[in-house]
Amino acid sequence: MENNRVLIVGGMAGGASCAARVRRLSEKTEVIIFERGPDVAFASCGLPYYLGDIIKDENKLLVSSPELLQSRFNIEVRCENEVIAIDRRHREIKVRRVATGEVYSERYDALVLAPGAAPIRPALPGIDLPGIFVLRTIPDTRAMRAWIAERGCKSAVVVGAGFIGLEAAENLVHRGLKVTLIEMLDQVMSVLDVEMADFVQERLTENRVNLMLEDRVAGFEEQPRGGLIVRTASGSRVPADIVLFGAGVRPEAGLAKDAGLEIGTSGGIRVNEQMRTSDPRIWAVGDAVETCDFVSHQPILVPLAGPAQRQGRIAADVICGRQSRYRGTQGTAVCSVFGLTVANTGMTEKALLRSGLGDYEKIYLHPDSHAAYYPGATTMHIKLLFSSHDGKILGAQAVGEEGVEKRIDVIAMAMQMNATVFDLEEAELCYAPQFGSARDPINMAGMAAANVVRGDVALAKWEDLPSLDALVIDVREPLEYATDHVDDAVNIPLSRLRQSLQQLPKDQEIVICCGVGQRSYFAYRALKQHGFVVRSLTGGMKTYAHLPFELQTRDEAIAKRKTETKANVIP
Ligand code: FAD
Repeated sequence: MENNRVLIVGGMAGGASCAARVRRLSEKTEVIIFERGPDVAFASCGLPYYLGDIIKDENKLLVSSPELLQSRFNIEVRCENEVIAIDRRHREIKVRRVATGEVYSERYDALVLAPGAAPIRPALPGIDLPGIFVLRTIPDTRAMRAWIAERGCKSAVVVGAGFIGLEAAENLVHRGLKVTLIEMLDQVMSVLDVEMADFVQERLTENRVNLMLEDRVAGFEEQPRGGLIVRTASGSRVPADIVLFGAGVRPEAGLAKDAGLEIGTSGGIRVNEQMRTSDPRIWAVGDAVETCDFVSHQPILVPLAGPAQRQGRIAADVICGRQSRYRGTQGTAVCSVFGLTVANTGMTEKALLRSGLGDYEKIYLHPDSHAAYYPGATTMHIKLLFSSHDGKILGAQAVGEEGVEKRIDVIAMAMQMNATVFDLEEAELCYAPQFGSARDPINMAGMAAANVVRGDVALAKWEDLPSLDALVIDVREPLEYATDHVDDAVNIPLSRLRQSLQQLPKDQEIVICCGVGQRSYFAYRALKQHGFVVRSLTGGMKTYAHLPFELQTRDEAIAKRKTETKANVIP
């Protein structure tokens, strides 16, 4: 079919990239973008930093304009024109001019829906009071800036500790406000597993963000002398001069639904690999669509700019007769929280458990960001999830000061190529001491994971310990052990381990613990070859320190179970 007239709803990452690609592939196609708001293709990812006054000039957020798109690409952009209905039978859309309310129709050969996702603003008592904002557009941000400046705001409540909530919290602190962050889950950043999120929570607390986890906002009240009170389900009353909702987004699927297009189970517009909806003349891309998880193949919503613009490009290819296909979404993302870089790709452990993909293993490592001897190296924390039978990479999370996003990007790309941990082990990556190590953290993660798949090490996990009738040996130096150790662990430094073999039991499992999991692996290899039944605790005490409280208090459970005699065997 000839697609001579392509109409696009929404002029941001998904819509604008689709329009520009159509033009590159076809000079003769007429392309019109309809955008409800006043701006097209602005940098929404920069909004938190405009809020925080790090970006001072609003114009810097305008990465394109209707004039530029017209003159450079011959793409017509109609800002402040909202598409209000789709007549699929006549292949027409109805458009309302925002300024006048006038409604008109336009005919299409191909229609692309890129309406994005709207911030969730729950119908709570007082939600419409002045001073409660969401952050999606430049006008939203401008209004928040004006509110803060005009009222001299001193305090803020941010609702929701996802990417946008965290970035907003940091930027409000940067502006000198005292920030309370309220999150209904038991952790910040649900794209991380709880023990990895703990590093972020620590950083927030260090920066005096008042973090309220496992609580939800119940309503808002006006204070007699100005400002608001935020009431929570637990009964707290938090005063705030300004409130920002960063409690997630919902796909703008109303237009598609009203037109009878299929909607997925997650609420996003259902599309196939070519971004086609259930109507072959209509495509949908970006935050509004339900895509397929790259690892689990289950339907998901992932509101990120990279997937949106790639999907826009694929829709354009298909509209212009090419056979491009979307591979699925990995959710690769990065965020900065008070100098801490937090990045992830693929599935988390909790998502693996939820989806019943039980056949996985995990390793933790805490390597230096670059060669330790070169000044400025910092520790990064990596969790890698992989298939225990073939080593296929399932997901990764990393937190640290430097080089974090580079490692996650490498793993993300490896996953796209269906790589295994053996490929990470072999990866040849650039190295000089200020950037990494000859054995990069990626190689180290690959080696540690490959050791598991090959059977060169058997891992123990902290959560398994209470149910194991094992002797725990801490192979760190006495000074390290004295600072912090689990209650029942016996200290035999690695350097003395071989002299202590005679005293170790052969009829009881031994679990080795150290600082980060490296010395315990060395000890494992030695003991294994001497005929002991042994396991190595992945991540060591560094991971232990960030586990949820219930797992840290497992010492008590172990203490009850263990007999004094077993613990005293070792000198
Ligand atoms: P949107 O960008 O939401 O654009 C949809 C457009 O469609 C909107 O402009 C809307 O006005 C218009 N529209 C909707 N309905 C209609 C209609 N009926 N008629 C006409 N126009 C309509 N992602 C990242 O990957 N990294 C980040 O760091 C990051 N930071 C972010 C920070 C903030 C504050 C926000 C809000 C988002 C951030 N995102 C980030 C998410 C990213 O911006 C989105 O994933 C991306 O913009 C999605 O593009 P989209 O085209 O699908 O939708």
